[in-house]
Amino acid sequence: MRPAVGEPLRRCPSCGGPLGRRAGCPRCDVAHGMRYAARETDRPGVPPGNEHAIRVNVSVVRRPEGISAPEVLARRLLLPALLTGFLPTREQAQRLGALVKRGARAEDLPAAIDGLTAATG
Ligand SMILES: [Zn+2]
Repeated sequence: MRPAVGEPLRRCPSCGGPLGRRAGCPRCDVAHGMRYAARETDRPGVPPGNEHAIRVNVSVVRRPEGISAPEVLARRLLLPALLTGFLPTREQAQRLGALVKRGARAEDLPAAIDGLTAATG
């Protein structure tokens, strides 16, 4: 049977939910872990690693269990820039990561991300 529009293509045989989505389900946990090891093909015209960054950020936003609230928010706010082809430099990513680890407040993150994207173009 074809999945309906908007339905996930694969269901988890253990929990019945979208495969990879439910933290704590062994099959979902394996499928979720594979997302981080994958090597995706970048779209033309984007820096190498952009597609992987998009997939990791989407994965965290869709399954935020175990991730700090500031990190989930930072990854969610970074997604629109990634989708337009932005990729932070290693230094920028580390700076943003440090801000997140210090427990950045929700109101600090948009300006920090705007600063990154403005600096890189
Ligand atoms: Zn499952």
